[in-house]
Amino acid sequence: MSKINNNNLVLRNGSKIAIIGGGPAGSFFAHFASRYAAEMGIDVTIKIFDIKSFCQKGPRGCNMCAGVISENLFTKLEEEGINIAQHCVQKKIECYYFQMQDDGVLLHHPASGHTPRIVTVFRGNGPLRSIHEGNVSFDDFLLNHVKERGVELVSEVVKEFRLPDTKGDPVKVIYGNGDSKNEFDADLVVGAFGVNTGMMEKAGKMNFGYKPPKTVRTCQCEIMLSPEYIEKTFGNNVFVFALAKEKLKFASITPKADYVTVSLVGKTDLTRKNLIDFLNHPAVRKLMPKDWEIPKSFCMCISRIPVTYGKHSYTDRIVILGDASISRSYKSGIESAFNMAKLSAYTAFKQGVSEGAFKEGYFKPAKRLLARDNLYGIIMLKINDYLSSQKQIANVNIKIIKSGKDRETANKINEILWNMLTGNRPYKEIFHLATNPRLVLKMLPINSFAWARQKRDDISAWLRRN
Ligand SMILES: Cc1cc2nc3c(=O)[nH]c(=O)nc-3n(C[C@H](O)[C@H](O)[C@H](O)COP(=O)(O)OP(=O)(O)OC[C@H]3O[C@@H](n4cnc5c(N)ncnc54)[C@H](O)[C@@H]3O)c2cc1C
Repeated sequence: MSKINNNNLVLRNGSKIAIIGGGPAGSFFAHFASRYAAEMGIDVTIKIFDIKSFCQKGPRGCNMCAGVISENLFTKLEEEGINIAQHCVQKKIECYYFQMQDDGVLLHHPASGHTPRIVTVFRGNGPLRSIHEGNVSFDDFLLNHVKERGVELVSEVVKEFRLPDTKGDPVKVIYGNGDSKNEFDADLVVGAFGVNTGMMEKAGKMNFGYKPPKTVRTCQCEIMLSPEYIEKTFGNNVFVFALAKEKLKFASITPKADYVTVSLVGKTDLTRKNLIDFLNHPAVRKLMPKDWEIPKSFCMCISRIPVTYGKHSYTDRIVILGDASISRSYKSGIESAFNMAKLSAYTAFKQGVSEGAFKEGYFKPAKRLLARDNLYGIIMLKINDYLSSQKQIANVNIKIIKSGKDRETANKINEILWNMLTGNRPYKEIFHLATNPRLVLKMLPINSFAWARQKRDDISAWLRRN
């Protein structure tokens, strides 16, 4: 790369930034961009393009997720002066209830006496037929926060962006609703378009090396229940299910004020049928009111979740982040978006917007932080899948936590499960907790006996069937 281009590839007074997507990754990038611009004393134009209006109820105004804001993210937002508005908070979460095939257990924050700062929100303005007034959307709250910092929201869709003919020149963003085509020459284009959009494939075909992450289709729905019933039955707890169902990786029920959000993540693409099967499972039925029937119509969405990370998500003047690039597997996607937005905005302002700057300042550290950690995540999730599919092993572990006879072991298992379910610590650290020699020595004989009992049960069941 020539020296001239390198000098050119920095943000300065009058630079223009186009952010494609007003989800968390886009808003967080805008937040950090306005912060770093102010710190450097430069005046930049920041525009976020998103056609979605988060004032709408139902999937059209929603970025479709369970809406759990992790404790880490809550704290980081506070440090940035972003205090989640009270009207957006649906519930404060204290514990996680982990339901396996036969039995379940309430998991607490590992530090005794610590009340976790986890909250639940709606990403859009609540489910389709909800009757609340005003706007409770978390994504809208974030957009309003950055609008107050001078960021402009353009409520139009981006159709494409074009690499310049001459290396180092601005990138052309083509946007507009319907047939209209407007152009915006940007010194930096931020791809924060998520994985539920054709923009990912378009960027993949632009020949700068970007390969979108692989994704699977998840299934979610919102079930309306009275606030009193939710309080009595779910309390301040997220329910996570490992029911050894062939297609399901995991399922959760997240309490909100007058709804519960049911989220299913599968090993492959899920459909409405998987959702109905789950809602009819005895462990789920048990949580619903007596005589409750699955409503004929309810707010439901099929959204994608990344299962690998995007490759080479940067070039001169272009950086892709959030779900469309690298995020933590299956957990705390919004926190990943925050971390990656900070890293990439810091790089853009302090090191420049060249391919090399993004590679060294953003992509390599992001890979170290998340992509490598996800490998530990895959191992941990596989172990978890196996253990929870073996009833006897699952039961014996739950019994240890519940009985309280061996406090030390119970606390260690609680800590591992808590961190797996909340995403509070990196997978690598959870892996080290789970392979702690004292714990392994303690649990090996117990789990081996449970495994042998499980095999005996399996053989008896097989003999009965044949
Ligand atoms: C079932 C499920 C449950 C989840 N639960 C949680 C949870 O509880 N907590 C958590 O932290 N994470 C959760 N996640 C992950 C979380 O939803 C994502 O990690 C997060 O939304 C990623 O943010 P993003 O900004 O990258 O993408 P998105 O949130 O998808 O935002 C992308 C935005 O880009 C816009 N856009 C797309 N294309 C264009 C275009 N061409 N022009 C203009 N705008 C465009 C879209 O309208 C959208 O607003 C969950 C995910 C799933 C699937």
